[in-house]
Amino acid sequence: MHEYSIVQAMFDQIEAQAQARHAIAVKRVFVRIGRSAGVDVRLLKTAYDTFRVRTICDDAPLEVDEVPEVWTCPDGHGDIVPGGKLTCETCGRPARMASGDEIILERLELEVP
Ligand SMILES: [Zn+2]
Repeated sequence: MHEYSIVQAMFDQIEAQAQARHAIAVKRVFVRIGRSAGVDVRLLKTAYDTFRVRTICDDAPLEVDEVPEVWTCPDGHGDIVPGGKLTCETCGRPARMASGDEIILERLELEVP
């Protein structure tokens, strides 16, 4: 399942960061997920809860911050309001998705002795 491979990748990052900071435990995990990332947040949480048992994250709840899509002009004319045509009003170029498809491990709360 897609969500399980995402969680697997998240754990690789979490373990690397925890090791780098000599943490003995992770207390909380914050991830940011774009609404266009194709992630089912409910499934992601289930996958995380299955995965974290007896890991450094055993005690760490997962906080998910879902962010909407942001479209912007590739020439720097600013953000484009979604809902209408996804082209820039100034130059007419097709908009580029600036965010909304990301899966980012945003922050960790670590227990460092
Ligand atoms: Zn433009």
